This record gives sequence, structure tokens and C-alpha cells, in this order.
Amino acid sequence: MKMKIVMLGPPGSGKGTYASRLTKMLGIPHISTGDMVREEIKAQTEIGKKIKEYNDRGELVPDEIIIKLLAERLKKADAKKGFILDGFPRTLRQAEALEKISEIDLVINLNVPDEIIIQRLSNRLICKRCGAIYNRLTLKPKVNGVCDICGGELYQREDDKPEVIRERLKVYKRSTEPLIEYYRRKGLLRDVYCNDLMTPPEVIVERIMGIINNLKNNEGTNQ
Ligand SMILES: [Zn+2]
Repeated sequence: MKMKIVMLGPPGSGKGTYASRLTKMLGIPHISTGDMVREEIKAQTEIGKKIKEYNDRGELVPDEIIIKLLAERLKKADAKKGFILDGFPRTLRQAEALEKISEIDLVINLNVPDEIIIQRLSNRLICKRCGAIYNRLTLKPKVNGVCDICGGELYQREDDKPEVIRERLKVYKRSTEPLIEYYRRKGLLRDVYCNDLMTPPEVIVERIMGIINNLKNNEGTNQ
């Protein structure tokens, strides 16, 4: 059966981590619109150049451009059986546009309290040299301030300061609330809760797999 999944969750909810684990278990691609955009810019395609212009001017990339990229990506053979979409849609308008290019079977809505996200992100450290990610609480480097992999210096991103995170969470909530309602009304939305910073990713992934298997079983008995 097809499994076309949208993952919703605030920045720092672990969405990308869960999606990349689920993609292996389900044998369907993890499609991150953020990664797609970065690849286009790097490859200097026509669309990539256009996106870079918007970025350089500090403007949002128009929905039409992302939808066009996404429509191309979803046509590829590996996405026929399904996919996990990460980073899109973020607004009601985008959800309606997505509906025109693909059906959606399931929307996973990750609920993580703000305080947990702030704790997680404000303790995040990144290697200056290789980009590896650490966490002062949950994923400590062997030597303080030094990357295990390459010996580079670890630093905190400007975006990961508590006051900046709070603002990002506010923006996320404002734009996704109508979207969450929209999918809830359609009966596609399933909530997943993570209320503890120390919950290992496997536990959350297990919960999501439970929801997916339930859905598959129900579909099996309906036919
Ligand atoms: Zn490093």
C-alpha cells in the first residue's frame, strides 16, 4: 500500500531525525524541502539561482517555486510507493497547493513543549570545521568544546539562543495552527507527544510506526 506521509513539528522537535529513521524502516524516501533547496543552490540550476536571489535579498522563496521543485521530485520512481515529507507544507496555502500535486495518507503532528525545545536547542553545539552536531545534555563530546570526529572547535549558533528560539516557536505556531486544523478535519492527523528531553528517538519512532501499522491493518480489513 502507499504511505504518503507529512511530518509536522516545530523547529527542534527532532522531526528530521525521526524522518530519516522511518525512511529506512518503510523503504520510502525522506523528502526535505530544505535539503532540496540547498541542493538546487549548490548545483546552480536555474531554479537554484532564482532561490539564491530571494535568499540574498532576505525574502521568502515563493510557494510556486517550492511546489514546482516538489512536483518534480514526487514524480520520481522512488516516491511512487510513498514518501515522508519534511519541512512542507508550513501554511494552509501550501497544504492546498500540495493537495493539487499529491494525495496525502497521514500527517504526523509532533507535540513537544516549548521548554523542552529550548533546553535541547540552547544546548546544541556545532563543529566549526565539519558541521557535526553535539548536545551538552544528551550528546556530549568526549572532550569539552572539541569535536570527536575532526578535533574542530564547537560553537553555538546565533539561532540557538533561547530568545531567538522562543520567537521561532511563536512564528511556527502562528503559521501552522490553521494547517493542523485543516488536516485534523480531514481525519488525516495523528498527534505524537514527546514530553521528556531524555526520551530516546527509538521510542518516538516506535510510536509513529504503531500509528502507521494500525492504518495499514485498518485498510486491510476495509478491502
Ligand atoms: Zn568536527
